[in-house]
Amino acid sequence: MTEPLTALADELSRCRLCAERFAATATRHSPRPVVWFAPGARLLIASQAPGMRAHNAARPFDDPSGIRLRAWLGLDDATFWDRSRVAIMPMAFCFPGYDAQGSDLPPPPICRHTWHDRLFAALGEVRLRLYIGGYAHRYHLGVKTGVTETVRNWRDHLPDAIPLPHPSWRNTAWLKRNPWFEDELLPVLRARVREVME
Ligand code: SF4
Repeated sequence: MTEPLTALADELSRCRLCAERFAATATRHSPRPVVWFAPGARLLIASQAPGMRAHNAARPFDDPSGIRLRAWLGLDDATFWDRSRVAIMPMAFCFPGYDAQGSDLPPPPICRHTWHDRLFAALGEVRLRLYIGGYAHRYHLGVKTGVTETVRNWRDHLPDAIPLPHPSWRNTAWLKRNPWFEDELLPVLRARVREVME
């Protein structure tokens, strides 16, 4: 039986399954699920996990990555953060902490094992799905290719889905090396987002 999305959101917001895992990281933070979806969403952003700034703000993509992502999508802040129109469901709903190099740790698999089947069943059909980063590509698209090849094959998933790289500043060099992304993919992405948000 499909559970109501609002009840699941409430249950998810109280999840503390990773308390010990996060307490053992350098930041020793507590779980703080960033829950950002509501019934009726037209656009799904299936991403990786909140960063530290999103964790502090309790709002996804409330950081420079989000500024770049909103520019890619052609959405203003109000529309992007309207959770009844845009659902943001990452591979893990909490900031996972940093590794020794200062990069975000991988999203804990327990999150998708615990939550994803229930959440995606409750969310139902959306008009467009955007998969951001390698973890989301592998999980949702079932691909075994690296991010560059997966995104380069973006046309394979049209019109219902588009794989994207993470909009992090760490990928600025990737964007320079792959000009086709801005020249060919982004205009189609913006047009599809416009269509589904109308
Ligand atoms: S990452 Fe997921 S499973 Fe872990 S505490 Fe947060 S919501 Fe729960």
